[in-house]
Amino acid sequence: MSADSPKTADVLLPLALEGPYTYALPHGLSVKPGDYVEVPLGPRSYLGCVWRLSEGDGGGKTLREVVQKFDLPPLSDTHRAFIDWVANYYVEPLGNVLRLCLRAPGAFGDAKTEIAYRIGRIRPQKLTAQRARVLEIAREGPAMKASELAELAGVGTSVVKALAKAGALEAVALPPHRAFATPDPAAGKLSLSREQEEAAKELRASVARRGHSTQLLDGVTGSGKTEVYFEAMAAALAGGQQVLLLLPEIALTQQFIERVERRFGAPPAQWHSGMRPRERERVWRGVAQGNAKIVVGARSALFLPWARLGLIVVDEEHEGAYKQEDGVPYHARDMAIVYGALGKFPVVLSSATPSLESLVNAERGRYGHVRLDTRHGAAELPPSHIIDMRASAPPSGSWLSEPLAQAVAETLASGDQALLFLNRRGYAPLTLCRACGHRIDCPNCAASLVEHRFRKQLMCHHCGHTTPIPPECPKCATQGKLVPCGPGVERLAEEVAQRFPEARLTILSSDLARGTLLKDALREVSEGVHNLVIGTQLVAKGHHFPHLTLVGVVDADLALDSGDPRAGERSWAQMAQVAGRAGRGEKPGRALIQTYRPEHPLMQALAKGDRDGFLAEEKRLREGAELPPYGLLAAIVISGRDGLETERFARSLQPLAPYGEGVHLLGPAPAPMHLVRGLYRWRYLVRARRGINVQAFLRAWLAEVKPKGSLRLAIDVDPYSFL
Ligand code: ADP
Ligand code: ZN
Repeated sequence: MSADSPKTADVLLPLALEGPYTYALPHGLSVKPGDYVEVPLGPRSYLGCVWRLSEGDGGGKTLREVVQKFDLPPLSDTHRAFIDWVANYYVEPLGNVLRLCLRAPGAFGDAKTEIAYRIGRIRPQKLTAQRARVLEIAREGPAMKASELAELAGVGTSVVKALAKAGALEAVALPPHRAFATPDPAAGKLSLSREQEEAAKELRASVARRGHSTQLLDGVTGSGKTEVYFEAMAAALAGGQQVLLLLPEIALTQQFIERVERRFGAPPAQWHSGMRPRERERVWRGVAQGNAKIVVGARSALFLPWARLGLIVVDEEHEGAYKQEDGVPYHARDMAIVYGALGKFPVVLSSATPSLESLVNAERGRYGHVRLDTRHGAAELPPSHIIDMRASAPPSGSWLSEPLAQAVAETLASGDQALLFLNRRGYAPLTLCRACGHRIDCPNCAASLVEHRFRKQLMCHHCGHTTPIPPECPKCATQGKLVPCGPGVERLAEEVAQRFPEARLTILSSDLARGTLLKDALREVSEGVHNLVIGTQLVAKGHHFPHLTLVGVVDADLALDSGDPRAGERSWAQMAQVAGRAGRGEKPGRALIQTYRPEHPLMQALAKGDRDGFLAEEKRLREGAELPPYGLLAAIVISGRDGLETERFARSLQPLAPYGEGVHLLGPAPAPMHLVRGLYRWRYLVRARRGINVQAFLRAWLAEVKPKGSLRLAIDVDPYSFL
């Protein structure tokens, strides 16, 4: 070590801290910015990242020393700049953003000395339920670390350790991670149509320029956008770079992974919330070392420690699921573009129903606009027909109009598949007492309980509170007068099963199927095992169902009046997407849309297939109100256990707000969901003209505000939830 090498380092910890802390470097230890280190803080020791080297000596204070440096590639300059950027934009403590990047604690162990457990020879004398779960998992799985076994079995590590001591588990050296297969850019390339080839050429060119650009790949459902952006990925891979393909979590299906594998001749790495710790560790390390070349992941994959990232594709870029709602409230599509700008590489946004934000950016010339206007091969875009429910209303207690029921019957008779779309989980959204008019609400939230007949429960969709369906009214105690109001998918299924007793019916909803079950269900639908499918928004997303020729939207009016500035755009996207599931195979499809408001511009646009007309109207409305993308929004939500105290605290902030030219402060007002999980909620909305530094305004206003007790203050820049 030379005499003038730094003796201290500023280390950022993955905690709610605004900046790094300074530590002394012990003699003989040299570190670089981006290195991962272990440092003490209070009585504990933490993993941290060297943010910069410093010359300071702690200003006379005795500095504590870095304990050790981990043998891993350092977090790149680009990635650290990205973390700084995200923290600044979302007015979030820097350490909280670093935490998003360190979601694989196992990666920091020393692989050589680690112990794993596999099933042993001895049966334990005392076999509790907890122990039995651990042994069952150990019997089926590979050798795993104690922490991983414990997590999978839902027990403490002490249970695992005790089983090992009793000889029921056997300790072995942790096997090394499986290596990542190298993708072949040319492996499963399809021959592209002329239109596709033109589009692919533009995307390849953006990769070849080796600078930042954003390309909006705007193509109708079934036009082959996936095949086209695969070409951009191939170009980046051929250049030795890593590629991130972001998908909404729900679209990350086995079917899709296999498609990527066929195209590139190697299974891609995956990153999503359901991964086991050991697999997280493997992918995290593989990404840091540059061995994982393709990662197909949900939004948090953006924060993996990329070594040589050269392209991000954001599929279904219009999806609300890209917005993280808890913790750091980031939008993965927007931050992908920021990463691309900092890392000087292209970003491709793909959608059949692009967000207004992206379309306006394309119009302004900030994004390239690559279009695919026809479906691949013989497939035709399905025409949409509006069913005026005022004229064709079904009898009370049923929801299928005669024209829609007819269409279903025809579809089934010709051996095809039909999908009925209703974005409401459960049996009925509301339960009323016909004797006293009482409505059964959640005790913790400002919301009604939803009946789930399949599970024989009433359930809150906000906090998860459940209660058995009561035999009598909880208020007036009258028996037999509680009635369900309105339909959910389960109730619709009842009607459908009565009308079409021969149909092979299935319901796709997140309550009824999750994880592997859901993946199996989706596969069965695409294989045509069922010919009648009832589904929530789960089915609207990117799936390819080749036998599907009819889509019925049961209630198109459901999401129109939600007080959300994007409600119209979102309804449009959802219906265009779900309609786009029809007719993707050889036979043409059609979509029937039930509405009580056939004159609404959205219904008119759907009937005419006039996307541009609808969006022009949406743009006009948003521009007039200075709403995104014509203005900036931020929400400040104040919550607390005590209603009065929360209100008082919310109101006390108003006089502290600085004057800001071009900034409008709305509120405080009770949030539309003014009670959630027992927390009272008040809200401010900040609306600012484009180009205004709304973060500076928020900091000047709120930096010194310290909520006490159960009170919380959350800042949400670019909010997507207006509840
Ligand atoms: P999108 O993503 O635009 O909805 P996909 O890429 O999923 O469309 O393509 C729709 C279907 O058409 C898929 O089954 C896909 O394999 C097929 N397809 C698209 N382009 C081609 C091509 N050039 N050759 C053969 N099949 C194609
Ligand atoms: Zn609730």
